[in-house]
Amino acid sequence: MNAEIISVGTELLLGQVVNTDTAIVAQALSGLGINLLYSAVVGDNVERLRHAVETAISRSELLIMTGGLGPTTDDLTKETTAACAGKKLQLHQPSLDRILNYFNEKKVSENQEKQAWLPEGCHVFQNDNGTAPGCAFTAQTGCLIVMLPGPPSELTPMLHNYVVPYLQKGQESVIVSHNVHIYGRGEAPVAQMMDDLMDGENPTLAPYAKEGECYLRVTAKAATVEEADALCQPLIDEIKSRLGNFVYSVDVETLEELVVSLLKEQGKTLATAESCTGGLLAKRLTDVSGSSAVFHMGCVTYANEAKEMLLHVDHQTLLDHGAVSEETAREMAEGILRRSGSDLGIGITGIAGPEGGTPEKPVGLIYIALSDGERTWVTKRSPIGRTKSRAWHRHCAASQALDMVRRYLCGMPVTGED
Ligand code: ATP
Repeated sequence: MNAEIISVGTELLLGQVVNTDTAIVAQALSGLGINLLYSAVVGDNVERLRHAVETAISRSELLIMTGGLGPTTDDLTKETTAACAGKKLQLHQPSLDRILNYFNEKKVSENQEKQAWLPEGCHVFQNDNGTAPGCAFTAQTGCLIVMLPGPPSELTPMLHNYVVPYLQKGQESVIVSHNVHIYGRGEAPVAQMMDDLMDGENPTLAPYAKEGECYLRVTAKAATVEEADALCQPLIDEIKSRLGNFVYSVDVETLEELVVSLLKEQGKTLATAESCTGGLLAKRLTDVSGSSAVFHMGCVTYANEAKEMLLHVDHQTLLDHGAVSEETAREMAEGILRRSGSDLGIGITGIAGPEGGTPEKPVGLIYIALSDGERTWVTKRSPIGRTKSRAWHRHCAASQALDMVRRYLCGMPVTGED
């Protein structure tokens, strides 16, 4: 099935809102094995929208529209698209009842009621997080049109809970994807290592870059999920055997999620002492729901005095080696471990830039230490050729720290040489 997306909204064309809806829909279509051939953004303008819809329904089998279903006068998607498809709008009483219920009123304004007017004979997707329902109907050209509300907080659950199962029913086969997440090897070398596996048709293999990491997507098509999984598994096993400890998960999306679950499984706790990452590591850990069971505390010790006062980093260490040094990172990790009474302590110190670098200690030089009270490991991140942003250095340092914890908990060499 060939598809396209039209996102409606002048705010998207003005660059005031980033078009995340298209990315969310595109990912869902890819998961369904539906080919997305075009994606467009159209402002709140009837003529241009009509032109875009007419073009789309004449060449595609599926058109997904996002935005413009709401109560305001610039919300034109439904009226215009229904007219292009040769459909009239009809009041859909259950949707009006939901809107009345949402506002806890017996009557709503004409604008609010407008949202319950839907193309005749359409399949309705209820909106569990707002007022405008979505819907699906077939145009006279045979193109299936799906309309979804613009706010991502409404579109995303509607898409996943109702639209994907609806589209899946029309498909004779299922598409299953598994993501093999890799830390410590970049997309290009990984792609090279997997070169001979990339030509397969079922399952397929594709590499993707992620900030400071990468992943391989294994996708198979079969009559059932179980059969598709069985097709994927040998390829996943082969990837794992080639990449070894660099594979950190299959389908666990982030290092922090994995680390929190490993800590939970092993009943261990963690504390962090951060300098150049400014609390980013603690933030990423606490982004994971349930992290309170394993994350004790995090200190942001930016100034040398703070490192001495809170972590008991030796004054002489700072004088002899400087704040950005293996020795300081080590004492930070050991200091926070003692202070918190946790099982593991992390220390991070470095130069995130863009200012503050010297020939001896350039921007991007970061030391990351992990201590378990008996041993302390330190990883040195050296800047590599290209100039990277402050945010990138900070993100990568936090990722490296998480990877060290992961490796420790999995009984692998902690500093990531293999
Ligand atoms: P509403 O009931 O809020 O009017 P709607 O379906 O009419 O819903 P729009 O009016 O087009 O949607 O957009 C409402 C808000 O949703 C926008 O201001 C924007 O914040 C967000 N939004 C719309 N389209 C997108 C998009 N493609 N990507 C990300 N956010 C979007």
